[in-house]
Amino acid sequence: MEISFLGAAQEVGRSCMHLSGSDQIMLDCGLKIHASENFPMDPPRRPDFVVVSHAHLDHTGFLPALYRHDRPELICTPPTLAMGELIIADSMKIMAHRGEFPYRAQHVKRMLSAATKLSYRKWYELGDSTLSFYQAGHIPGAAMAEINTGGKRILYSGDFKLEGTHTTFPSEFAPKNPDVLIMESTYSDRDHPPRKELEREFKERLDKILGEGGTVLLPAFAIGRTQELVRIVRTANRDVDIWIDGMGWKVSEMVSHFSSYMNEFKKLRADLDSCKPVLHKKDRDKVLKKPCVIIATAGMLQGGPALSYLLRLGPESHAIFTGYCVPETNGYNLINKGFVEYDGVQIKPKASHSYLDFSAHAGRSELFELAKEMSPQKIFCVHGDRCVDFAEELKVEGYDAHAPALGETVKI
Ligand SMILES: [Zn+2]
Ligand SMILES: [Zn+2]
Repeated sequence: MEISFLGAAQEVGRSCMHLSGSDQIMLDCGLKIHASENFPMDPPRRPDFVVVSHAHLDHTGFLPALYRHDRPELICTPPTLAMGELIIADSMKIMAHRGEFPYRAQHVKRMLSAATKLSYRKWYELGDSTLSFYQAGHIPGAAMAEINTGGKRILYSGDFKLEGTHTTFPSEFAPKNPDVLIMESTYSDRDHPPRKELEREFKERLDKILGEGGTVLLPAFAIGRTQELVRIVRTANRDVDIWIDGMGWKVSEMVSHFSSYMNEFKKLRADLDSCKPVLHKKDRDKVLKKPCVIIATAGMLQGGPALSYLLRLGPESHAIFTGYCVPETNGYNLINKGFVEYDGVQIKPKASHSYLDFSAHAGRSELFELAKEMSPQKIFCVHGDRCVDFAEELKVEGYDAHAPALGETVKI
């Protein structure tokens, strides 16, 4: 049996792997939306099945392209399907803006008609192979996938977080000793600060900015992060106005359908009900009239309402980044170089900014913990900027680890 690494190989973005044994199975098919090389490579053979770990664009954004000529069965959790549909519609707009049309609405429709929803810890047959999902933390509906195929047991971690948050459950461990563990390595170089400490720090910054008459802008991914931030803000301040702008509101309306996939769901629902949506562009003037909290997409400031708010806020206001920013995105450039790009022009915003590491990904210790708990025969490190170094570190610990190159096919 062979595994081909078609994306997320020594990089973050366009996650895509292909298992070729008794069946042709693809794992994720995402985009690297802010890069010139943004699509995954072609699979060696057309997949019969596509297993999707979670709804983020870097895992789902290229899926409909598989349905231009084929109709592979797509398997994912119920929240992943619903949220994935939203995020794919949004990515089509972004790509159209760039003049890219890798697929059309009819391919999205065909993809949705080929989808099967599978919840955690239930076995499902993929031809002669079998699949089971496990809770992966990270965002609601995120799954690790255990696949028995071609005589091998393969565990794909997708993106995961062992520690639970206000909105996600802790990730669970699949049965030990798989033949292969394909694992994300996003934060292999560091641990995240304890959540309690971060929340205390967040409250201090929030109180200070609001107390001085400023507004706090929270650029956020629509799925997971927006909802978690609502909980964090409300825990820190019961009364401040919270506005949600962009796709985060649509996702927030959707979460009641998936209450069993959300941690502390009742508290989340109550806190979401205390927020106000920004449904029209013209309402943004109203939002900016008095100090408040704005949670808006895009999380990396690549367009979306968050960028337009940032450019309108004054020096009394402050933007707090709370998640991963891919190099060369506006979010990354602002944090590391102090500017954003708008209409091709570099701009230094008047509002100040800071970063608090509320990551939805496993930190370094959690990555090592997963490897130790699973004790696989072989580890492939993907989805990271330093996969090669991480694989070397795992080797020192006695694991058979490898960071595949883009397009590499490995026989196992
Ligand atoms: Zn993710
Ligand atoms: Zn990812």
